[in-house]
Amino acid sequence: MIQDNTDPSVETLQVTELFASIQGESTWVGCPCGFVRLAGCNLRCAWCDTTYSYGPGATMTLPEIVEKLRGWGLPLVEITGGEPLLQPATPRLASLFLDAGLTVLVETNGSLPIDVLPEGVIRIMDIKCPDSGMHENMDRRNLEVLTPRDEVKFVLASRADYTWALDLARQQNLAQRCGAVLFSPAAGRLSPATLAGWMLEDCPPARLQLPLHKYIWPGRDRGV
Ligand code: SF4
Repeated sequence: MIQDNTDPSVETLQVTELFASIQGESTWVGCPCGFVRLAGCNLRCAWCDTTYSYGPGATMTLPEIVEKLRGWGLPLVEITGGEPLLQPATPRLASLFLDAGLTVLVETNGSLPIDVLPEGVIRIMDIKCPDSGMHENMDRRNLEVLTPRDEVKFVLASRADYTWALDLARQQNLAQRCGAVLFSPAAGRLSPATLAGWMLEDCPPARLQLPLHKYIWPGRDRGV
């Protein structure tokens, strides 16, 4: 059957999980938030903590997803993955959330065009560093379309990653062009204290980000 892409009731997404939690990252950290974790990822970061999202997930229609999230009554939602932009219906889901009056974050790995998302979405874009093993997969055109509404996140696993990220942030004037530049230590690879020390020495155009949800619910991998 040919799918009618003008009718959201027949569009579907592959979903790994839907959950309500405390936003653990970005400048929205600490806010209650409904999450849509979509299935599938085109990258394989060395330190990935969501490998369970690689599989096919459950099929849900867009209205089913919107109804479930709206039922929680949270004004903030995030569409994440995996890589949410792998699925063609993701921009449509973001539009439906915006139409419902919600604040919409989309977290993406930066390897696919981000300008497919509707205006009004807050894009949280990863810039993969060398230790991830995935830095050459970035779609560098995304750097040109960033706006002050967007945020960029570097997950750092080493001093080499930190230096690489610092150079890129300065070369691209990211702090002037984005709402926030986030430096986050990779769990088990770089300690928050070490990264904080480097940042105090260099005053980079970035803020330290620690994943709050992992401190609230240590050892819990899903649903947070
Ligand atoms: S982009 Fe995200 S989900 Fe995909 S491999 Fe990297 S960390 Fe894991």
